[in-house]
Amino acid sequence: MLGDGTRCVRGGEHDAHAVGDPVHRGPVLTSTYHLGRPEEADQGADFYARADNPTWREFEAAVGELDGGPCTVFPSGMAAIAAVLRAFTGAGRGVLLPSDGYYVARLLADEELAPLGVPVAYCATAGDWASAIARHRPALVMLETPSNPGLEVCDVAAVAAAAHAAGAVVAVDNTTCTPLGQQPLALGADLVVASDTKALSGHGDLLLGHVSAADPVHHERVRAFRTRGGAIAGPMETWLALRGLGTLDLRLARQAENARALAVALRETPGVHDVRWPGLADDPSHVLARTQMRRWNGILRFTLADAHAVSEFLARTTLVDSATSFGGLRTAADRRARWGDAVPDGLVRLSCGVEDTGDLLADVIGALGG
Ligand SMILES: *Cc1c(COP(=O)(O)O)cnc(C)c1O
Repeated sequence: MLGDGTRCVRGGEHDAHAVGDPVHRGPVLTSTYHLGRPEEADQGADFYARADNPTWREFEAAVGELDGGPCTVFPSGMAAIAAVLRAFTGAGRGVLLPSDGYYVARLLADEELAPLGVPVAYCATAGDWASAIARHRPALVMLETPSNPGLEVCDVAAVAAAAHAAGAVVAVDNTTCTPLGQQPLALGADLVVASDTKALSGHGDLLLGHVSAADPVHHERVRAFRTRGGAIAGPMETWLALRGLGTLDLRLARQAENARALAVALRETPGVHDVRWPGLADDPSHVLARTQMRRWNGILRFTLADAHAVSEFLARTTLVDSATSFGGLRTAADRRARWGDAVPDGLVRLSCGVEDTGDLLADVIGALGG
């Protein structure tokens, strides 16, 4: 197989091209397409842009190849998660979600699905999924590994086997890893969902998401839901994300290098506790993460004494933005308790950018008084 860098640059390219064709195609901005004469019944893929768009197809081909299954693009990670939650649950057909996963997915399940009669149950990412599946008998199991922001992991292959034995569909939120870092479909999951707002597009200038499926029937269900639900991605955002994807391999490599250097240094810094990065050999997540992750990434967490200590750190640093979201070019710190995550007040999720490692290390450790 070709390497990650090559696949990111050339992914989804299969069309023969003629002399004079643009090497880089732009976004196709149209709401409607020429249909031909009424008797020409087969109008092809493109007739109205809620159903399909050539720029989507380019993005979906590239990301679907990386994920290992056909892909459907959505206007945000939450739109992708909402499509899966709505399409694969129903009254009496419940969902089992990580209790420590992305908090808006929990809000969606509790506030929008439960009132429709969808049983909503939770299990901690590092908890006992087999027992929770046996107890709740969900129609859909959603995993997030490593979890955001705790960076706990669960065994995708083992949970998928338990879920399948109980007749459930398994979806994995692969946002933190990207398709280069982890391949949930190859590990046995039925669906991958992701927020491409983060590392996949990688420049912090758009929102986007996608769902990839192992089973073509599931894929068609997701696509039908998108067309009927109407939550569709803009061609401009999709094109920008495709542009960003070309450098994912390079960005991920630098982000992981920065995260490793910072995690090692943070553990030696007074006042910094509970440093977690799954790539560290003695991180509690490492042994399991290593069996199912292909590559590390730039997201780590650590805990300072309290919210005030985080505030002082942010005041002193010059290379770290105080911002939520992650996976971008610029290093960003987010004190997660401000969003209502059930974490200590001083817990910081740090998303390492692509700055030079030495500069970042000096700035961050200096700002922490180390
Ligand atoms: C950001 C994020 C989402 C939501 O994605 P949006 O693009 O913001 O809608 C879902 N899951 C995880 C793990 C995320 O980090």
